[in-house]
Amino acid sequence: MDSSDPRDELLHIVATVREYVVEQLEFGLFEAEINESEPEQKYADLDLSALNIDAQSCVKCGLHEGRNTVVFGVGNPNADLMFVGEAPGADEDRQGEPFVGRAGKLLTDIIKAMDFTREDIYIANVLKCRPPGNRNPAPDEVETCSPYLLRQITLIQPKVIVALGSFAAKMLLDTNTSISALRGKFHEYALTTHSENAPVIMPTFHPAYLLRNQTAKREVWEDMQQVMEFLKGN
Ligand code: SF4
Repeated sequence: MDSSDPRDELLHIVATVREYVVEQLEFGLFEAEINESEPEQKYADLDLSALNIDAQSCVKCGLHEGRNTVVFGVGNPNADLMFVGEAPGADEDRQGEPFVGRAGKLLTDIIKAMDFTREDIYIANVLKCRPPGNRNPAPDEVETCSPYLLRQITLIQPKVIVALGSFAAKMLLDTNTSISALRGKFHEYALTTHSENAPVIMPTFHPAYLLRNQTAKREVWEDMQQVMEFLKGN
């Protein structure tokens, strides 16, 4: 190639790019990239431990930039009861475990009052990384991260999921109804096609809300009593 002629140089670049694209298509690499944009399909092959390893290095949304740890979830991988919150806070981000701050202590007290330990149940959040300043999760962050939670639910197969607060309830029920209107009764899990093993969802107030509104504790306890009754009968 005569590099002194800009037209020749351009033609050479075009030919090189074309060669590269043809090569990638032959090896199916472009197809692999398209599949990666469907994370649920990709996660369908992962068990809980492999899913955790995948999440630990996840950079699929901007929240990876400010996190200290990825807060995947903890507890019994065969739990009948699962609690799902919104996102890690500062304490959770530091320790890598969900619900370990003041709200977490309150959740632990609720779990104990239900006659369980944290090891009996499974606890996770919709988002695995902390939103800066504990701001609300953005819709695109929920959309990007939620396949991790959906796969966790499929693998654990709980009988009941307690959705803690508005974000978890709206995501699991695929609704915009307020938490006040949703809480207090069981709902169908909206995000599965396998209805035979689908958990039921009990939305209730988030423990962080209870720290600011002590009177709502009574309503949460009524919701938890319904959960205990359900688990006894199933
Ligand atoms: S919040 Fe979820 S999707 Fe975003 S980087 Fe963390 S693990 Fe990945």
